[in-house]
Amino acid sequence: MMCFRPPYVGKPIKCPNCGKMNPATNKNCVQCNTELKPENK
Ligand SMILES: [Zn+2]
Repeated sequence: MMCFRPPYVGKPIKCPNCGKMNPATNKNCVQCNTELKPENK
């Protein structure tokens, strides 16, 4: 479990394509530029 939580972002979004963790503010993956979708449960 991650103990630290940067105050400026929400939950990181995991790229569905490459698995890279992106800041919640990102709309596209920083690594492969795949469109990130909001987490829904
Ligand atoms: Zn990616």
